[in-house]
Amino acid sequence: MFFILLLLLAAVASPLALPSATPHFRLMRGSLIPPPLLPPLPPDSPTGLLDLDAIEGFAHTHNLQQSHVSNLYNVFLRNGSAGCGVAAPRSSLPDLNELTDKSFPKAAAMTLLNSFSALTSSITKVIPSSSGGYRLLVLLTTGHSVETVLIKHTHSNGKIRYTVCLSSQVGCARACSFCATGTIGLKANLPASSILEQFLHAQLLLASENIPASSLTNVVFMGQGEPLDNYSEVLKSLRSLTHQCMFNVSPSRITVSTVAPVPSIIKRLADDAPAVNLAVSLHGATQELRELTVPSARGTSIEELGAALDYHAKKSGRGAMLEYLLIDDVNDSDCAAESLADFARDRGAKFKPFVNLIPYNPTLAGANFGYETPTDERINSFHDLLKKEEIQSSVRWSSAAGRDANAACGQLVLGE
Ligand code: SF4
Repeated sequence: MFFILLLLLAAVASPLALPSATPHFRLMRGSLIPPPLLPPLPPDSPTGLLDLDAIEGFAHTHNLQQSHVSNLYNVFLRNGSAGCGVAAPRSSLPDLNELTDKSFPKAAAMTLLNSFSALTSSITKVIPSSSGGYRLLVLLTTGHSVETVLIKHTHSNGKIRYTVCLSSQVGCARACSFCATGTIGLKANLPASSILEQFLHAQLLLASENIPASSLTNVVFMGQGEPLDNYSEVLKSLRSLTHQCMFNVSPSRITVSTVAPVPSIIKRLADDAPAVNLAVSLHGATQELRELTVPSARGTSIEELGAALDYHAKKSGRGAMLEYLLIDDVNDSDCAAESLADFARDRGAKFKPFVNLIPYNPTLAGANFGYETPTDERINSFHDLLKKEEIQSSVRWSSAAGRDANAACGQLVLGE
């Protein structure tokens, strides 16, 4: 089985920034292994319209203006409406008339239509969840597949909103002990266009269900992969997600979730994308405890991680969210709660992180380590201790109805 642990929904309020790819080290099962320097998947052929770099290159080569690029995306993503109005995405190329009506020179429009495709990936399976969300199996032209998840939220005022959980890699190299995705290893980094197509597929799916695409309001990088291990492509996708000409998502509605394999990359994210929210999968607030579940933490110290969070908070003006998976008899003791409270408090009153506690849901990966879910009493006791220490926190209780839509960082694995 797989579940996406995702606590973010409540966290949409915390800001983040993006890191960049500095040297990382992958530590697996105790051995130090050089980081996987996989390039993104080769460009699909033909290139998809969501490849903003390629479209801008095309525009440059054909002496087109920025307004042509805007017009192209207005046709493709908003049915011709300018600005950031209601989205009406399509899965087909604009036709020649639509482009020439938007002032494209005819020759350039014909070349564009012969050089690009609307989409380079396809949905091979849609699995509705009992909570009203969907899992999408997305097939890339390279033959790889990734999963994308749509999570439904019904607010107290009755409004329905969706969050899309995007994958950034095929598999993952970080091998967190509880994570299904980590068991398959890293297969490939996704190019930005493949990340963006997941968003578009999610919009198209909602539209096919007569749900306005505009109800898809939040984005979390919590699907397959460690986003900061594919830094440059994730950063490009953030540019397009927030670009007025393209998806026009507010950065405050985007969250990048990371196990922070290299704290310095959090600083880079703070410099490059300070307006985007940051969620850190901590799972242990002492070095020893964190290494139990996050092997990549062995390459750095918990103090370095704290310093990176402080840097990020100063740059972004907001504290990060901390995700903490509660595993019975591993990291759920009173002592562990005290350490977590200390770690959060050390970030300072202004940037004290919000803590999301996620009771462990059994996975095959976790079963290898004998992991079990703590009792409700233990979970409540851990939570009470945080509250007593004045740490803002919540418990993401799982339920039969919500399990598939209530998961955490990158716990997607294909085909289950
Ligand atoms: S939890 Fe995230 S970083 Fe860890 S193995 Fe899974 S996908 Fe990778």
